[in-house]
Amino acid sequence: MQHFPDARSVVRALAPDEPIILNRPHAAARAARFFVEKFPGKSLYAVKANPSPDLVQILWDNGVTHYDVASIAEVRMVRSVLPEATLCFMHPVKSPGAIREAYFKHGVKTFSLDSSEELAKIVDATRADDGSEATDLRLCVRLRVSSEHAALSLASKFGCDLTEGPALLQESRQYADWLGVCFHVGSQAMSPFAYVQALDRTRAAIAEASVVIDMIDVGGGFPSVYPGMEPPPLEDYFKIIHQHFYALPIAYNAELWCEPGRALCAEYSSLVVKVEKRRGEELYINDGAYGALFDAAHVDWKFPVRALEDDLIKPAMDFAFYGPTCDDADYMPGPFALPEDIQAGDYVEIGMLGAYGAAMKTDFNGFGAAERIIVTDEPMASLYDGSRARPAADNVVSLR
Ligand SMILES: *Cc1c(COP(=O)(O)O)cnc(C)c1O
Repeated sequence: MQHFPDARSVVRALAPDEPIILNRPHAAARAARFFVEKFPGKSLYAVKANPSPDLVQILWDNGVTHYDVASIAEVRMVRSVLPEATLCFMHPVKSPGAIREAYFKHGVKTFSLDSSEELAKIVDATRADDGSEATDLRLCVRLRVSSEHAALSLASKFGCDLTEGPALLQESRQYADWLGVCFHVGSQAMSPFAYVQALDRTRAAIAEASVVIDMIDVGGGFPSVYPGMEPPPLEDYFKIIHQHFYALPIAYNAELWCEPGRALCAEYSSLVVKVEKRRGEELYINDGAYGALFDAAHVDWKFPVRALEDDLIKPAMDFAFYGPTCDDADYMPGPFALPEDIQAGDYVEIGMLGAYGAAMKTDFNGFGAAERIIVTDEPMASLYDGSRARPAADNVVSLR
């Protein structure tokens, strides 16, 4: 991969006709070290947020030893890059073939589930040739919890309710060498209180099941910083999770895990796009809803932007973007504030696309290409560069 200091120097040197993904290994390394040093337990990287082999290697080099994988393709990719990593298959609905390959070929022992059917599937798919059951399964029962504090809900698809959870914990305990409870509070959880509510639910399920619990996995949902979304410090999340974890009725040596995706990789990538046409307050750019800007189009996510020309002198005004495909839905409402005199041929950098951005690119309509280049400047926003003052006391959640 080529190296440049920043987006401007890339544009000056290459005048690229196609979008370019700029990667910042130092930003991902810093995020990894932050979680490894400050989260009071083990931090798994949720690979789906950005399944780049380069990124996975950077996280490993900076202390992330466990990986949350959700498909057999993710299992194979991480295993090929990191032969010694611990892989945890945390998708609650898996195919028997995927479970079998993960367990027998890639050494995966940890599986999540949210139903008796999935438990039976896991037990069956991991049987030895002589029909005997696996004795080293590490099972995590996924509870459904509220997504009310998160920008993106993950509450309706997976997880069992409090009416089913205790029985499933008891049933799973019979097959598990090691039993955990996991949940996901939704992505970009803007308040640490999301985890308090989820841990309260966890407590109720464990108390009713009265089985030994070896691990609590508080999932992902840790926020990054975007325009209009300035979360409280991650330390506040870690502190409150730790306190509520300690109050649970679990084994004295029980482990605490988390599975950040977004928070580990949002700062890793930005995108350089070219303006192909201007129509009033709309800019037609060469990446969009079927590219790295999926969330900007489909869930109205706001990303920071900056113009990369030196000769734009007018103050900023609000623009919307059209992507390159022929689909009307390839539209990002923004608003994106850029200089009033921006025009066709100019370049724009769109920041904070390392999570669920670079990973979302498709080849639809022939617009999938994007070179990847390493840059060394700072991401357009960061939770980890020491620049953020502690927010006001109204962001601090009170403890019971
Ligand atoms: C998507 C996902 C994550 C990561 O979520 P973020 O909001 O990106 O932190 C973690 N765990 C599971 C099970 C997931 O599906």
